[in-house]
Amino acid sequence: MNLPENVIQQIVKEVTARLQTQSGANGIFPDMEQAISAAKVSQRVVQKMNMEQREKIIANIRAATLEHAETLAHMAVEETGMGNVAHKILKHQLTAQKTPGIEDITTRVWSGDRGLTLVEMAPFGVIGAITPSTNPSETIICNTIGMLAGGNTVVFAAHPGAVKTSNFAVDMINRASLAAGGPANIACTVETPSIESGKIMMQHPDIQLLVATGGPGLVKAVLTSGKRGIGAGAGNPPALVDETADLQKAAEDIINGATFDNNLPCIAEKAVVALVEIIDELMHYMTTQQGCYLASEAEIAKLESVVFTAPSGGHQPGLNRKCVGKSAADLLEMIGVKAPDGTRCIVFEGAKEHPFIKEELMMPILGIVRAAGFDDGLEKAVWLEHGYRHSAHIHSKNVDRITRYAKALDTAILVKNAPSYAALGFGGEGYCTFTIASKTGEGLTSAATFTKQRRCVMSDALCIR
Ligand code: NAD
Repeated sequence: MNLPENVIQQIVKEVTARLQTQSGANGIFPDMEQAISAAKVSQRVVQKMNMEQREKIIANIRAATLEHAETLAHMAVEETGMGNVAHKILKHQLTAQKTPGIEDITTRVWSGDRGLTLVEMAPFGVIGAITPSTNPSETIICNTIGMLAGGNTVVFAAHPGAVKTSNFAVDMINRASLAAGGPANIACTVETPSIESGKIMMQHPDIQLLVATGGPGLVKAVLTSGKRGIGAGAGNPPALVDETADLQKAAEDIINGATFDNNLPCIAEKAVVALVEIIDELMHYMTTQQGCYLASEAEIAKLESVVFTAPSGGHQPGLNRKCVGKSAADLLEMIGVKAPDGTRCIVFEGAKEHPFIKEELMMPILGIVRAAGFDDGLEKAVWLEHGYRHSAHIHSKNVDRITRYAKALDTAILVKNAPSYAALGFGGEGYCTFTIASKTGEGLTSAATFTKQRRCVMSDALCIR
């Protein structure tokens, strides 16, 4: 018996709805197997949708994100203890407004004497995405928009430390889909995520593609899983400042970037390399105009004893998670220093080998490294980036130097004469993403990244010119 399409779709909707948990939240399941099987059912519905229908759901996700930006920002700061509410609101607004949707899904065509050939972007199916604690809901929303535009559904292995925020976002996304006439469970996850449930997802035969946004342990796990993996890993972005830069603006741009969401973004300035001619002037502007606290050697030593502890939680050995994403005032308070009003960042001059300079701290402590000249600065910046090929920034008006720097650093992102966040389309041109595939080379991911290429050939026909 052949059932009409609309009846099949209705049955599918009902089955997927029944698979949901009793918590009443959409897309959140007691275990990973159920989450994956629900995403598989909804993917069949999504794949049959036309692009206009996908776009309708995406428009609703964007609207819901704007509506809940404040709630999500508060939730994330409260749950993770990291970041800054005002900046997280901006991050959600940016995600809603600048994450590419169906317009990113394009077709290439060759038409000629021998016929017509198309290369189309097709879905992978169900994508497994692992998300960080530093941008939990932004990554989930951004990933879902791109993956859905490409015709996929997604199962998230969210960071256990950001489960409430992540699951709120998943529920919000599915409500937005249902309200637009789409299926439930376009994004799925588990009630209580863990490294183990993440591993089940990574090994599951119904997951066609893995997208990892997080630190080095995660990226390694995904790239050794035996599946196709997109690895958006750690960075340690240096910002080089030479004597041709507008130093007042460089100080402002660097501190704006380095303090955004308390330095949590992977693209944020994590170290500065300043040429000897201008280092004092640059630091003068930072301390007198940009709310920087110049820490003494003794204060830096005390901070070191607070910021680094024994390895924990599978994260970078030695980084005290209680300090990650904290404000400069909170960090200073931890060593008994009352920060002056308006303090945004802690700065000090140090060697590139200083642990605060060479490690990715994700907190507003910025070490400034002295360079003897441009060549020395370039070498130091390359060393500090550790070959992550993630992000690097430069403040210079010398185009030849900028070009040399770009080639030597070879990073997915290079921001010139602006705060690092200009790379995400915030005060700069271009689209937004919270998954920057530094390790595997896709760069700033978008809907097209989450598709596979398919060639469709008609020989000796359909060329009608
Ligand atoms: P994290 O690596 O601690 O966690 C990220 C995710 O990976 C979590 O869901 C976690 O549960 C999981 N995970 C961690 N180790 C794992 C392992 N060995 N096997 C399987 N899963 C594992 O990262 P975080 O602290 O939440 O986020 C900060 C890190 O992520 C920083 O290093 C930052 O640079 C990076 N990051 C990169 C991007 C990017 O686009 N490249 C974006 C955001 C964050």
